[in-house]
Amino acid sequence: MNVLLTGGTGYIGSHTAVALAESLGALIGEKTHHIVLLDNLCNSEIATVDRIKTIMGANSACALTFIQGDIRDTTLLTQVLSNQQIDAVIHFAGLKAVGESVAQPVEYYANNVQGTISLLQAMQACNVKKMVFSSSATVYGEPQQLPLTETHPTLATNPYGRSKLHIEEILHDVCLSNPEWSVVCLRYFNPVGAHKSGLIGERPSGTPNNLMPYITQVAVGQRSHLNVFGNDYPTPDGTGVRDYIHVVDLAEGHAAALNYATKHAGWQAINLGTGKGCSVLELVHTFETVNNVTVPVQIVNRRAGDIAVCYANTQKALNTLNWSATKNLTDMCQSAWQFEQSMT
Ligand code: NAD
Ligand code: UDP
Repeated sequence: MNVLLTGGTGYIGSHTAVALAESLGALIGEKTHHIVLLDNLCNSEIATVDRIKTIMGANSACALTFIQGDIRDTTLLTQVLSNQQIDAVIHFAGLKAVGESVAQPVEYYANNVQGTISLLQAMQACNVKKMVFSSSATVYGEPQQLPLTETHPTLATNPYGRSKLHIEEILHDVCLSNPEWSVVCLRYFNPVGAHKSGLIGERPSGTPNNLMPYITQVAVGQRSHLNVFGNDYPTPDGTGVRDYIHVVDLAEGHAAALNYATKHAGWQAINLGTGKGCSVLELVHTFETVNNVTVPVQIVNRRAGDIAVCYANTQKALNTLNWSATKNLTDMCQSAWQFEQSMT
């Protein structure tokens, strides 16, 4: 099987390449597989390609190719899909900073929505009709009931979230237009952690927006303390509750979704989370305990646009993909810390 990963050198794409190489390698009856990573490197680095190859090992049943390019370049995408005889696409490429999307909505829609349309045009031209798409729990907006099921109403509250929602709708229309298409939109909750090798992980440029990379940068001494955005939410300790999921579990969810997409047509949206909520302070304390480090915190005002509590109903992922998360908060905190240390 030949699979194109757009945004393949990014945080989730790189872990998925590794998981995919393992799962494709285990397929009986197929000899060679090819994973093609396409990325414009706007938020990742080329060194990741060699790190993925190191983890895969010389005896992998998969070949890995990297192509530097932009998903908005339809001509390039058409060439890649055709020359590499691609069977399916896992579409990660996109911009993902909520605050930046509020300041630069046009850039976000151009990159995320226009980029997806360009990809779909190339896929149509090459008769490739299987896609797994990186969506987000942010499409649910303020939860009306918890845990969040896939049938919860969608209402994104910022341009980043709306770009995901628009893409989901476009993909739905594509599936309605032709019953041969198969699209699985994976709604990620809060991916954290890193591969056990310490070779790949999350490396945000500039000040991290997300909690875990901020914690690791405080622990390593790069920042003095963590600002905790509010301790007056209606939660047990007053801080925000999220569904943190180990990125390796998430990556394996993509392999399961790809397997599903090769066997079933139509459009699906599926949550990838653990189903368990964890507060900011609970994550900080777990990180301190399992890694034997100190993470000073300071309580500050709530962050605009944040919700109190968000966690997944994971039943559909189990029923549809036969997938569930296996790693716990300890695994997430240890691997994130190991990666941070290996990079400094
Ligand atoms: P990331 O920034 O590490 O990876 C995205 C990759 O896409 C980067 O390598 C970047 O260089 C590339 N890229 C961006 N625009 C491109 C373009 N026009 N052409 C080619 N390459 C392009 O982010 P990630 O955390 O790995 O996220 C992957 C996907 O998952 C994104 O679509 C993101 O919105 C989505 N997602 C992420 C999270 C999260 O918390 N990390 C949560 C929900 C959804
Ligand atoms: N958070 C925090 N300090 C930070 C970053 C995040 O207190 O520096 C909190 C945030 O308010 C939320 C949780 O950590 O309750 C997760 O935030 P993140 O940005 O990682 O993910 P989100 O769920 O907002 O997409």
